[in-house]
Amino acid sequence: MNNKKILIVEDEEKIAEVMTAYLEKDGFNVQSTTSGLNAVKLIKELRPNLVVLDLMLPDLSGEEICTQVRRFSDVPIIMVTALTSEDNRVAGLTIGADDYLTKPFSPRELVARVHSILRRVDSKNLPLADIITFDSEKLSIDITRHEVKIEGTLVSLTPLEFKLLVTLARYPGRVYSRLELVNKLQGYDFIGYERTIDAHVKNLRQKIESNSKKPRFIKTVFGVGYKFEA
Ligand code: CA
Repeated sequence: MNNKKILIVEDEEKIAEVMTAYLEKDGFNVQSTTSGLNAVKLIKELRPNLVVLDLMLPDLSGEEICTQVRRFSDVPIIMVTALTSEDNRVAGLTIGADDYLTKPFSPRELVARVHSILRRVDSKNLPLADIITFDSEKLSIDITRHEVKIEGTLVSLTPLEFKLLVTLARYPGRVYSRLELVNKLQGYDFIGYERTIDAHVKNLRQKIESNSKKPRFIKTVFGVGYKFEA
């Protein structure tokens, strides 16, 4: 056992069985469900380390589950889909999946992806305890002290700007939709309209980017939202 819990959400039982067998052989503690509604409940209760989520389910769609889960959890999600077009991949990214597998896939491929994502998450979570730095310490974020420095100089951010920066910087490269950011920032004295995110990003860029017109860290993903570039 490696103590990592994986939840498989898949209504095709044969596929779920094969995935479970391969992941268990690798030491994972695997649970599975065929229901989307049950999946959201299980993610709250079991707090899995990773979720393998089928896009096409009889009750809730994988996309809907993803959206709901992102309101309360950053658990890595691998979306499994029979759809192949680039459009669907982008749609998935906007709702916060971390990776994609297109059916049919080999179980070995799934196991490899699971390991690679968990490695990525582990290495990213480690420095979260105190300080994360980017670009040879040009930008440093001190999580516990709520301090951000640009080239060693303290920058004054509002609590909302700080939360926005940490949310994006915690998963470099991951694209966040405006709606996802709105949900993340609830409770930070925030009027929850998607477009108001743009105003906060603009302010944040002016404080941390040397050229806010050509941002180095906070990139716009056209038609989708924002991402942090490490
Ligand atoms: Ca299915």
